[in-house]
Amino acid sequence: MKYRILGKSGLKVTQIGLGGIPIIPLSYEEAERCVLAALDCGINFIDTANAYSDSEEKIGRALKTARLDREKIILATKAQPKSREFVAEALEQSLRALRTDYIDLYQFHNISRQETLDKSLEIIETLYQFREQGKIRYIGASVHGVEWVNTVIRCGVFETVMIAVNFIVREPVDVVLPVAREHNVGVLAMKPMGGGQIDNPDLAFRFFLALEDIVPLVGVKTPEEIREVVEIIEKSAPPDEDALQEMERIRKETGTLFCRRCGYCTPCPHGVDIVTLNIFESIIKRYPVEPMLKSGIEKSLKTYELCEDCGECETRCPYHLNIRQMMKYNYEIYREIVAKRECRR
Ligand code: SF4
Ligand code: SF4
Repeated sequence: MKYRILGKSGLKVTQIGLGGIPIIPLSYEEAERCVLAALDCGINFIDTANAYSDSEEKIGRALKTARLDREKIILATKAQPKSREFVAEALEQSLRALRTDYIDLYQFHNISRQETLDKSLEIIETLYQFREQGKIRYIGASVHGVEWVNTVIRCGVFETVMIAVNFIVREPVDVVLPVAREHNVGVLAMKPMGGGQIDNPDLAFRFFLALEDIVPLVGVKTPEEIREVVEIIEKSAPPDEDALQEMERIRKETGTLFCRRCGYCTPCPHGVDIVTLNIFESIIKRYPVEPMLKSGIEKSLKTYELCEDCGECETRCPYHLNIRQMMKYNYEIYREIVAKRECRR
């Protein structure tokens, strides 16, 4: 397995990392088998978040079983930049769950609006204090929205950024990478399989073989899946002309159906939570439905009923998505879940 250096952090991570979301619905034993398989394949980089249900616990338990020297693994986790107190509590929980004394890369979640960036900068001193105390080593941010990534990079406090990149959403390659290189900021790629839109792992991961500055995070639900991805990464060549053409074909085919979560279509003048509605189906593919609904997402989904069908959001979507149709489709999925729940009562 080859290694990459994550920008000015200097962290030396394997060319792919393990993402902590897909293990959420697994049992502790199943999750452990996935983490151990990843370590066994040579992966040294694991990313999770305090907000990912019991993902940290599962990873911590697997790492205990693996009995690796702590310095042989690079652990990344995240907290929402809500307040100093919130972040302090989240970090302590992460340390306990991951069974470690320090986090290698501590990231603020989802800095995709000016107010979140302002809040992050307001409380960044808290992270500096944790760093002085040896509880964290480096600071990163996860970001949605291509234009925001460069703002976050340029603010100068983050050593890495995590963004959605795959062969369908490849705008960051042209727009973000030059700025990240200029500022020596490491780039992590979430959603290398397009959040479930891409079902060809060979193409999905060969895409990254041509991009030495990006480290994709791979989410798996079985040990076989991680072994398959590692084999692609280790044995395949970067995409040739045929592979590039196939990627382009899939990109064109799905490009009109796929919400990038960029938020350009917001705000809705009538209070509809457009993005949450658009991505609901992709969320329930990865999270157990009932706990996720209890997390408050239902309130956002119900805003569909406020839609006045004005079409204003569609004029702002740079991908020309049929937002009203997508919201209707996702809202119907939600209504079916509610109907089944009521039948069970
Ligand atoms: S079509 Fe619906 S969601 Fe879109 S801007 Fe109009 S009211 Fe809001
Ligand atoms: S609907 Fe379009 S503008 Fe809105 S978040 Fe999705 S891709 Fe972006």
